[in-house]
Formats: sequence, structure tokens, C-alpha cells
Amino acid sequence: MRLSQILIATLREDPADAEIPSHRLLARGGYIVKIAAGVYTFAPLMWRVVRKFAQIVREELDRAGANEVMLPIIQPKELWVSSGRWDRYVTDGIMFTLKDRKGSEMCLGPTHEEVMTAYVNAQVNSYKQMPVNCYQIQDKFRDEIRPRFGLMRGREFIMMDAYSFDADVKGLDVAYQKMRDAYCRIFERCNLRYTIVQADSGAIGGAGSEEFMVVADSGEDSILFCEASGYAANVEKATSRLPDAPAGGEVRPMSKHGTPNVRTVAQLEQFFPGWQAGRMAKTVLYKATWKDKEAVVAVMMRGDLEINEVKLVNALDAMAVRLATDDEIKAATGADTGFAGPVGLSDKVRLLGDLSLQGRTNLLTGCNETGFHCLDVNPGRDCRMPEFKDLRLARAGEGCPVSGQPLQQARGIEVGHIFKLGTKYSSAMGATFMDQGGKPQPFVMGCYGIGVSRTPAAAVEQNHDDKGVVWPAPIAPFEVVVGMLDPKKDDQVKLAEQLYGELQQAGVDVCLDDRPMSPGAKFKDHELLGLPVQVFVGRRAAEGMVEFLIRKGLQKSELAVADVKGRVLAALGRS
Ligand code: ATP
Ligand code: MG
Repeated sequence: MRLSQILIATLREDPADAEIPSHRLLARGGYIVKIAAGVYTFAPLMWRVVRKFAQIVREELDRAGANEVMLPIIQPKELWVSSGRWDRYVTDGIMFTLKDRKGSEMCLGPTHEEVMTAYVNAQVNSYKQMPVNCYQIQDKFRDEIRPRFGLMRGREFIMMDAYSFDADVKGLDVAYQKMRDAYCRIFERCNLRYTIVQADSGAIGGAGSEEFMVVADSGEDSILFCEASGYAANVEKATSRLPDAPAGGEVRPMSKHGTPNVRTVAQLEQFFPGWQAGRMAKTVLYKATWKDKEAVVAVMMRGDLEINEVKLVNALDAMAVRLATDDEIKAATGADTGFAGPVGLSDKVRLLGDLSLQGRTNLLTGCNETGFHCLDVNPGRDCRMPEFKDLRLARAGEGCPVSGQPLQQARGIEVGHIFKLGTKYSSAMGATFMDQGGKPQPFVMGCYGIGVSRTPAAAVEQNHDDKGVVWPAPIAPFEVVVGMLDPKKDDQVKLAEQLYGELQQAGVDVCLDDRPMSPGAKFKDHELLGLPVQVFVGRRAAEGMVEFLIRKGLQKSELAVADVKGRVLAALGRS
């Protein structure tokens, strides 16, 4: 391909809203052009990247026995009602909904469990037709709360989503493992550094799930891991071992104390010397939302620990939680913010407690009276026993749940997610097959996603320098550029055309930069665009010498024409 025929428009300045390198560099390189928040045009070079990545995904999934299909983007509300997800997605505000001319409600697919389940249910009647695994690579639509970081969190973005259907859990386990292996090969083929972590199953639901994380400082996800045991989990899901808390000691009588304007754990530590945060139970009020109701709930957590809201949503089987407002706290407890506690809490407010408080005696807590706290509170005697659940946010430095060694922390970009769904959707939607005994059984399902537009952006996060992108060769728009520095000079044109032809012959994905621009501008453009191998034909063309550049580290050398092909193939690992 000749770059003079490709629409390339690099910018001098970073866009104002670009916070992270991939967004900055892809926008400046003209790879992506924003049309609305989280909605982008993929320019020709970016589309080549996406297609190359998608091709790797296709090859590995086909190898794993999955079938490519194409499902409709527009989906009828009824399907989502049949799975029970319409309300949750509408309440979350994540789904784009619309009405057709007859007034029927529809949505733009944020995900495709419903459509795929309906499709396979219509096609597969017998256990003999399984296993089935279908995937598609297609645009998804999600009205994200915070679309940002360019392709990382779009509102229209490209996803590969696959769905497996088996007759039993054993079959699902096999399908899941096959997909997990395929994912590993996909990300390895792109030369990405990634890690697999235990994950929360979120709105999709199901038994277990793992995320594939590309390790990068700009990642929105936080990962806790232990090298000794290999344990790794998204912080949303992670657990840890805590050192044994100082025992509360022999049960003592409870006492109530005036604590005017003393509201926070830190203030209480000052006010009651000797009562460290670990001896306190803070009580945090949340407003939780379910499909058909909402309520304020109280959560007791050890004073030195934090609440994990994802675990709280799961424990409550709620759609969402948020901190209660001052007014909601006053209405639920009768007291101002900072004085809530289990003592004297209305029976109407559900009370949960973190496992770190289980069996603890003589706690410092609030008592739902403005300006007062209680010492030596013993749940079960002085107040209701809370429902104990794991509600705690695990933190770096705490013990690995497997080895006990200190957990380490890293940031990651979620590029893939695999779930064991089980029969959640098939049961809800009545999607069944005939088993060996001729009895109807719900399909046992798995689902699997890859961010097809997010992964190239993640690759840029891992592969760039201050001058521009440094594409990993397998997904680079072109592997090699041959550039003529002065397209008006016949000897340069001739030599560049010759090298271009030779490299094409050798099976290299090469482009010819024949654009009329100054050598300085051309070099700069290519630093920014980041093709892995760059060959420039300039003033020394007559002597048969060219400039050879490996984009990673900007290693430059002068090379004789006869050596170019060999060096290019070696640089691409193909010699
Ligand atoms: P996240 O936690 O980042 O919001 P998710 O859990 O909602 O992602 P899934 O529903 O598991 O994502 O989607 C599968 C894959 O699609 C994700 O692993 C991610 O790579 C990609 N993806 C999800 N949301 C977006 C988005 N808004 N923009 C670009 N890619 C996305
Ligand atoms: Mg996810």
C-alpha cells in the first residue's frame, strides 16, 4: 500500500481530554477521531490494527472449535424481560433504549446472552448436537457513566463475545478451559504482558469468572497478587488474611459517653485514648436498590478496614448501592451523620457486619444519638447480632489467602473476561434440550468477552515512548514502512520501489511512504505512528545505502541495500 493513498492526518497537539498515553498518541497519530463522548471513528490505519487483532482472535477461536456468527444489534425488550435483565440495565442507565414506529421498546445490544440463548435454543434440541460454541465480533453499545481514555471505555466499542452451550457442568468445564487456553494464545501472540485474575461476575451473573488483565499503570482495575502462591484477584473480588486482631477481652458492661462533634474513626481515636481503630466498629449506611424496592441498610466494619461495595451488592443481591445521604441517615437512625451504630438501631434497618467483627467483644460503636458513642458494645447482648458476611476491601500488604505472604498490588486493563454462567439464562428463558433420557434440561452455558477495540489501546499503553506509539509487530498497521525522503528524486523513488517490491515478495506487510513532505516531517510522523521497522531511502540512494530503523528504542543504522531484506526479516523474527 502507498501511504499517499491512505488518509493519514497526524496532529501537532494532544487533544485536551486525553489523560493517558494511548488516548493521547492514538488521537495525535490520527488513528482515532472523536465524534461524541466515547464514540470514535477508526481511521484507516487504526482499522488495520483492529482487523489484525480480530484476525488473531478468529484464528484462535476457530482453532478452539467456536463458530463465528453475526447477531442483531437491535434487540426487542421482550427478550430482556424473559431473562429478567431489562429492569436492571435500565435502572443502571447503561443500556441505550429506543422505540420503533409502532411504539415497541428495543435496545442496542450492550451484550448478547439473551439473543444467543434464544438462537441456540431454536436450533439445538438434543444433547447430541452439543457442545456448541458461537462467537461474533461486533459493536456493543453502553451508555457508560464515565466514557474516557479514548478506546478504553467507549460508549460504542467493538467486542468479541462468545457463548458456549453444554449438556452438563463437566462439558462447561471443558469449554471454559478451551476458551481460557485460546485467550492465552491470543494475548501471547500480541506480545502483551497480561495476568489472569479471579473476578466478580457483576451484572452478567454466574458461578465463577476470570479476567485477563494487561498490566499497565493507567489501568482502571486494581489487582492484588502473590508471587509465592500464584493467587491473583481483582480487588473487587479479592480476599486476604488479616493479622489476629487484639482480642476485646472479658465482656464488660456497656457505657454511653458524650462525644460532641466527634464523628470519624480518627476523631474517636483522639477522643478515647487507648481505643484504636481496630477496636471500633464503624457503621456505614447505604441506600440499596433492588428491582422492585429500595432501602437503607447498615453495614458494620472494623474501624481500620474499608467496605468493598461490590461485595456488598452481592451480599444483598441488590442491583446497586450508594452511600446514604445525611437526610437518609437522619431519617433511618434519628441521628446526624457520624453517630450511627448498632445500639438502638431500628428493627426496620437491615444490619450487616463484616467477618472481621465476628466473635469480637467490647467494641466502640455509635448509638444513633447525635453527640454520643458507646464503649464495650457486645453484639447479641447490647444490640442485634449483624448478619456476618465478607464485606471487606482487601489491601496490599495483607496476607495472601493461600500462602499468607504479603499481597502485592498492580494496575491492570481488563481486555478479556470469561464466565461460567451455568443455567442462569437458560433456566430464566426456558431454553432447554432433550437429555439422554429424553427429559428437557436447561443448557449449561459459559460466556466469554474480549475488548477488540480496547486491546489495541492497551497494547499502546504497554508499548510507547515519549515520541509515539511502538506497535507490537503482530497488530501493527504495517510491519514495515519503506520511505522515500524526497519523492522528486528519481534514484530515491526507484530504490524505494525496488525495496518495497522485494519485501512484498518476501511476504512482509509493508507500505511505501511516497507522500510529498519534508524528510524531517516524515521522520517525525513515523516516530509517532510507530511502525515496528522503518527503512528510509535518502541522499545515499546512489551509493546503495539506506537508513534502517527499529522503532523500539529508535535504533538507527546505515545499511547496504542488499542487506535490507535479511535485516527486516530478522527484526520481525522470521529469518
Ligand atoms: P469493565 O469492568 O471494564 O466495565 P465489563 O466487565 O463491563 O468491563 P464485559 O461485559 O465483561 O466488560 O465485556 C467484555 C470485554 O469488553 C471487557 O473485558 C472489555 O475488554 C471490553 N469492554 C467492556 N466495556 C467496554 C467499553 N466501554 N469500551 C471498550 N471496551 C469495553
Ligand atoms: Mg468485566
